[in-house]
Amino acid sequence: MLTLHTAWKMDQGSMTDGEAGMAKLFASEVLGKVADEAVQIFGGMGLMDEGPVERIWRNARIERIWEGTSEIQRHIIARELLRPLLR
Ligand SMILES: Cc1cc2nc3c(=O)[nH]c(=O)nc-3n(C[C@H](O)[C@H](O)[C@H](O)COP(=O)(O)OP(=O)(O)OC[C@H]3O[C@@H](n4cnc5c(N)ncnc54)[C@H](O)[C@@H]3O)c2cc1C
Repeated sequence: MLTLHTAWKMDQGSMTDGEAGMAKLFASEVLGKVADEAVQIFGGMGLMDEGPVERIWRNARIERIWEGTSEIQRHIIARELLRPLLR
């Protein structure tokens, strides 16, 4: 819902950097948790390249790094939330 709402705001031309950061941060962090849980459910097979889970887990990891790492997204979100208080 957060991703869809942010995409809708982008289409409307009203999306802020902080909103984009929240969508990217939340989606990529949840993806990481879900992919990690999938490996756990599959056990050792989850880390073998015969199945799809290892590839999903490995691909999921980069999402917290590229296009702005999770730490940088938190900076962007914090800056937007704090800006009105610093005026
Ligand atoms: C497979 C792959 C493909 C890529 N493709 C592209 C591409 O097509 N185009 C492109 O432009 N780039 C691309 N990149 C680069 C990617 O965008 C960078 O890796 C990413 O921006 C992180 O930068 P960095 O690797 O220099 O890490 P660094 O900036 O060195 O960060 C290292 C760690 O320190 C943290 N950190 C850094 N600064 C702060 C701070 N101020 N506060 C708190 N924590 C901080 C980071 O969050 C991270 O955890 C790609 C990377 C990979 C691995």
